[in-house]
Amino acid sequence: MPGIWVVGEIADGGLARISTEVATLARGLGETAGHDVSGIVVGAQPKKAADELARFLPRVVAVSEPATDGNAAATIVAERIAALARNSGPDYLLLGAGPEGRDTAGVLSAMLGWPVLANATGLGWRDDGPTVEMSVFGGKLNTTNAFTGGRGIITVRPNAAAAEPAASPGKVEEASPNGEPQLPRVTVVDSVAEPGAAAPIEEARVVVAGGRGVGGEDGFKVVQELAEALGGVVGATRAAVDAGWINYAHQIGQTGKIVKPQLYLALGISGAIQHKVGMQTAETIVAVNRDPDAPIAEFADLVVVGDLFEVAPAITAALRARSG
Ligand SMILES: Cc1cc2nc3c(=O)[nH]c(=O)nc-3n(C[C@H](O)[C@H](O)[C@H](O)COP(=O)(O)OP(=O)(O)OC[C@H]3O[C@@H](n4cnc5c(N)ncnc54)[C@H](O)[C@@H]3O)c2cc1C
Repeated sequence: MPGIWVVGEIADGGLARISTEVATLARGLGETAGHDVSGIVVGAQPKKAADELARFLPRVVAVSEPATDGNAAATIVAERIAALARNSGPDYLLLGAGPEGRDTAGVLSAMLGWPVLANATGLGWRDDGPTVEMSVFGGKLNTTNAFTGGRGIITVRPNAAAAEPAASPGKVEEASPNGEPQLPRVTVVDSVAEPGAAAPIEEARVVVAGGRGVGGEDGFKVVQELAEALGGVVGATRAAVDAGWINYAHQIGQTGKIVKPQLYLALGISGAIQHKVGMQTAETIVAVNRDPDAPIAEFADLVVVGDLFEVAPAITAALRARSG
């Protein structure tokens, strides 16, 4: 099956959200380019994720690979996909740019000798190949890139597109590879969920983020309370993380996470470019800042000029009064 392949990632037994976004972008790319787009899911139990991927793509192959049970999946998945790619000759492989997708893309690149364009923020098609948008130099520059050799691997950042299922679901085929994977395995001996980690921050519809203006660990209680009242999660700037007020899992920006919520409420955040690149695609940005000339005022939809310790608790109280 030549054309474009989307490597579907398994998360909690189903399809990772990032793969639904990659599949949506890939389908659009295939329509523009007149190329077939297929999905491929490799795992011990790939069927559920493959079925979900088939909501987005016309054809998905579910490859049963028991070796991913108890072992780090990326090398095993990459080895199986590389073997299939050598046989079937896709031109482009697309993956999510999360930890799993990045690892898999690296191994695939090494095994196939294909180049990688990493962290795409958007995809297009020009002449005979994909164009890949990237945000570089801390978001100061957006570049458009292309492969020169006609084949390549692309990793796509979370929230680069809104997932949209196809008009009708595709077919799922099941496959079993021959023989054992040959690459050395990495056994997973334990997995630990970091306490208080903001795991779903990239998927949250509401993010309430605190910056240096929050003033300390205690100040984050105000942020947390407002986030809870809004049914959202807590984000932070690097300044707050570096100060040790909140852990890194909450950091948003160039060296943190990229979020795309419906509402981003920024409390005591100046709006530095390195923070902006992580939240600028939020649908609505509301900033609470004492300084009316803070850079965030240039791109926020609404700026409340005031002390966050007055404004945020007042909003929280109003929300609680409304719901209670
Ligand atoms: C290579 C590199 C990577 C980086 N990566 C990231 C990243 O991923 N994420 C990130 O966030 N930053 C990142 N940074 C840091 C970034 O440049 C800024 O330093 C940081 O975002 C500033 O955080 P801040 O807005 O919380 O603090 P500040 O810039 O100090 O802003 C604090 C704001 O709070 C306001 N304020 C103060 N008190 C109150 C109050 N009581 N009520 C209301 N408003 C108040 C002030 O007016 C000010 O606007 C990076 C920097 C570099 C060089």
